[in-house]
Amino acid sequence: MGTKMGFMVDSNRCIGCHSCSMACKNYNQLNPDIVWRTVYDIKEDAYGQPTRITMSLACNHCEEPACKEACPTNAYEKRADGIVIHHEERCIGCEMCVYACPYNVPQFDKEKKKVGKCHLCYERLDEGLSPACVSSCPTQAIYQIDVSTIGDGFENSLPGFPDPKITKPSVRFIKPSIVKKL
Ligand code: SF4
Ligand code: SF4
Repeated sequence: MGTKMGFMVDSNRCIGCHSCSMACKNYNQLNPDIVWRTVYDIKEDAYGQPTRITMSLACNHCEEPACKEACPTNAYEKRADGIVIHHEERCIGCEMCVYACPYNVPQFDKEKKKVGKCHLCYERLDEGLSPACVSSCPTQAIYQIDVSTIGDGFENSLPGFPDPKITKPSVRFIKPSIVKKL
């Protein structure tokens, strides 16, 4: 089985501080209205727990990326390690990928008239560093993983998440395990 790089998201550790999305924005020098990583509030009763749960999500570097499939200019590349990269110089801003991605990941930048998305900081990984979001998280609530070696025991979906069968996302979740009393 080949390498499939993606993210592990640990809901027990996320404190909703948004450090990850800010680090991503800063590292990638994104325009003010663009975010490549979003911290979501999960519906309070989604896991039957009377407490706020936050999870940080970005591109899932899908095994069968719908973005790549939809793009008429081959702006997307799936690397041998599974990372899905968007080549901005090939993008004509048609937004076909925006409509195709079930996770609303590709972001259209009105200023640049092009799309962009998380590339798992592949250039940092190539140098042996962690992605900017992972490095910035104070609680280690997100980290990069090779989904092909992570083993069982992790969730591949969330309440409200699109069906993973559509694009086979390379993301895994650690469900909330501590019931906090209000
Ligand atoms: S999450 Fe969306 S943008 Fe990312 S690889 Fe999958 S289909 Fe493409
Ligand atoms: S907006 Fe860019 S990346 Fe998306 S489908 Fe069009 S050309 Fe491809």
